[in-house]
Amino acid sequence: MNISRTSYPRVVIIGGGFAGISLAKKLSKQEVQVVLLDKNNYHTFQPLLYQVSTGGLEPDSIAYPIRKILKDFPNFHFRLADVTKIEPASRTVITDIGELKYDYLVVASGSKTNYFGNESIEKHSMAMKTIPQSLNLRSLILENFEEALLTSDLNERNALMNFVIVGGGPTGVELAGALAEIKKGILPKDYPDLDTRLAQIHIVQSGNCLLKGMSDKASTKAEDFLEKLGVNIWKNVRVTNYDGKTVTTDSDLTFETATLVWAAGVKGATINGLDAENLVTRGNRLLVNEFNQLIGFENIFAVGDVACMVTDSFPNGLPMMAQPAIQQGEQLGDNLLALTEKKPMKPFEYHNKGVMATIGRNKAVVDLPRFKLQGVFAWYVWMFVHLFFLIGFRNRMVVFVNWVYNYIRFDREARLIIRPYKKTIR
Ligand SMILES: Cc1cc2nc3c(=O)[nH]c(=O)nc-3n(C[C@H](O)[C@H](O)[C@H](O)COP(=O)(O)OP(=O)(O)OC[C@H]3O[C@@H](n4cnc5c(N)ncnc54)[C@H](O)[C@@H]3O)c2cc1C
Repeated sequence: MNISRTSYPRVVIIGGGFAGISLAKKLSKQEVQVVLLDKNNYHTFQPLLYQVSTGGLEPDSIAYPIRKILKDFPNFHFRLADVTKIEPASRTVITDIGELKYDYLVVASGSKTNYFGNESIEKHSMAMKTIPQSLNLRSLILENFEEALLTSDLNERNALMNFVIVGGGPTGVELAGALAEIKKGILPKDYPDLDTRLAQIHIVQSGNCLLKGMSDKASTKAEDFLEKLGVNIWKNVRVTNYDGKTVTTDSDLTFETATLVWAAGVKGATINGLDAENLVTRGNRLLVNEFNQLIGFENIFAVGDVACMVTDSFPNGLPMMAQPAIQQGEQLGDNLLALTEKKPMKPFEYHNKGVMATIGRNKAVVDLPRFKLQGVFAWYVWMFVHLFFLIGFRNRMVVFVNWVYNYIRFDREARLIIRPYKKTIR
């Protein structure tokens, strides 16, 4: 990889997500050599992916070049590389562009969509974990409307305009809200010759509430907001299969649809060599101690979604969310410096800063540690927090201007089929 050894210890970080970037920032002015490897040359702000899928934002406003984030740090190196294996015995990381030795290794590879072993759903459904996937979904939604115009078969037209979202977590709720707004505000203008009442949005949720993990008030209010927007909510229903045409469930309910969005679960993106049964726990996450250290390894750490840190309040591991990832990255930075100076490490303590979800224009639910908000003010809080955590001044400005424009004009300008997504239901 053409990275010369220096007198400083080398820390290799796999993944430039929230956890990897916050760690790299912490380390990069210190006396360590930092090598960050990522299969993309950009950081993705995943909480706004649904806006890319629904034409509210262009992808470049929620992505940021990793090299640019860390350009001022002399001890920092980035390589565009897909890590395929880790060999702890020889302290080596194997990638598609070669091998690299490490002194300390940090796995910050995040998570991937969990289909719970259902190959048919994996093959036919749409996921929304990455920018390319979000662009695929954007294209498919728009292609469906174009195709619906052409067909005279009513069943086919219904299926093209039927959107089924599996999973009532923040991703499912936010996507459903955005699709409902497209139905209301965009479809009648763009497709005056299409009966837009045919467009149906369904959320199918195996549990008995939406936004599990948030307060009862937030969950009830989100449901209320969605119902007012015309979204159909199916609770206590588990999707069992999808063949590209028909969704079957564990009840009598079935859906004919050209678009099934799978937002029903994620699992840790573990890497070969560190995926032995004793290392991986619930949700395919790497079991770490209170210092984010992999059980059984002194110099291998995991942070963010891929790490499972069990605490009294979180017996199944900390939530797979941005804040735990950012906070773990920062804390591990301090701990790695402590290690290199032979000082004791400090245990990680999670500070819950709140959870939120938006359901659409003027509608959000926010659970903060001290109080809970719903409605317009919550929506402002949601917008402020997302702008604050976006990386890059340009991105913040672009997103802010887009939001103001979309708000005033009831519009979503980025409804472009730039890279057609091919999917047939016939
Ligand atoms: C649609 C969506 C909406 C979300 N909304 C919210 C929200 O509103 N609030 C919230 O707190 N959280 C939200 N989350 C969750 C949040 O985005 C994640 O918890 C967070 O991104 C985890 O950070 P991370 O650094 O662990 O992983 P990630 O941010 O996923 O970063 C992992 C990085 O590792 C890289 N990588 C993975 N495997 C390899 C490999 N083998 N080789 C090289 N590189 C690799 C990836 O390219 C990626 O850049 C959402 C997630 C999604 C998908």
